Amino acid sequence: MDDDITAIHALIKILSGIGSIRYALNGSDALRLAEQEPPDVVLLDVQMPGMSGFEVLVAMRSQPRLMNMFAIFVTGHSSVEMEEEALAQGAADFITKPFHPAVVAARVRTQLRLKRALDQLRQLSFTDALTGVANRRLLDESLLQECKRARRDRTPLSVLILDVDHFKRFNDTYGHGAGDAALIGIAYAMLASTNRPGDLIARYGGEEFAVVLPGTDGSGAMAVARALKQNVDQLKIPHVASDTGFLTISVGVAWFDHGSLLRETATEGHKDHLCSPGPEMCATALLGTADQALYAAKKAGRAQVSLLQCQLHWAQR
Ligand code: GH3
Ligand code: MG
Ligand code: MG
Repeated sequence: MDDDITAIHALIKILSGIGSIRYALNGSDALRLAEQEPPDVVLLDVQMPGMSGFEVLVAMRSQPRLMNMFAIFVTGHSSVEMEEEALAQGAADFITKPFHPAVVAARVRTQLRLKRALDQLRQLSFTDALTGVANRRLLDESLLQECKRARRDRTPLSVLILDVDHFKRFNDTYGHGAGDAALIGIAYAMLASTNRPGDLIARYGGEEFAVVLPGTDGSGAMAVARALKQNVDQLKIPHVASDTGFLTISVGVAWFDHGSLLRETATEGHKDHLCSPGPEMCATALLGTADQALYAAKKAGRAQVSLLQCQLHWAQR
């Protein structure tokens, strides 16, 4: 972003071949472009009519999708104070005009490399190494976010916990390598059973997986659980040490609906004294209830799905 089109043309010439470039002549256009397609690195002119480069960066950073972007400030009047301010604002680097093409290109390349390395690390830190689905850390974070969203939007929320039946025996019979391959197959079957963009599949631990289904009530979640069980059945992974002869799963389903809970409370006339439960309580209760439902499915003979509505207790204001 620069209000000087000559400077923009110079930068385009220097940076062509390093990555795809988009430019804006003012802060609001720069914001709009960045929102449409978050860049890895943004070059911001400090002195601009309207929003300054510093203000644009603050506005960008306030958006979750632009939070991790790298920023390089560009200025014609460099001073130690300005450089200090730029770095304090969270800039990755600082470039002064007139441009020295090789130096600008090298600096942008360095920041791009760092940004991509950081993205990879971030991706790895949220991924289960064996199956490639989300790990427990991302599950916990996402579930908390979805509980907040469900509370704000008054929408239902469901959680499934899936556990492989007699998996210890499977490992004992076929070996740990075959066990790992079966877990990968199950993760694929899970991906095939969910189709909404907000659905999250995660490895909960060992041979247990979890699915978070935002905006989904008990009957919707049961439909997903049944499809999931069917998809795993269709893999027909032999398991001679199980009753069915094939590898099966049990699924516990928990759901709750903020909307219906609030309506019930309102009709009881307690609305002023009661509030909906906090997101942490909601997340813990959903996982706990799904676990209880799973236990019921195991107790009832395994290879089945079981549903429980999550009972959230009202917190006093
Ligand atoms: P249940 O039907 O009651 O769930 O019986 P189970 O044998 O599946 O349950 P249990 O909790 O007794 O054993 C789980 C087994 O899952 C123990 C371990 O050998 C296996 N397991 C856990 N994580 C992995 C893994 O990453 N790879 C492999 N191959 N096996 C795993
Ligand atoms: Mg288990
Ligand atoms: Mg098991």
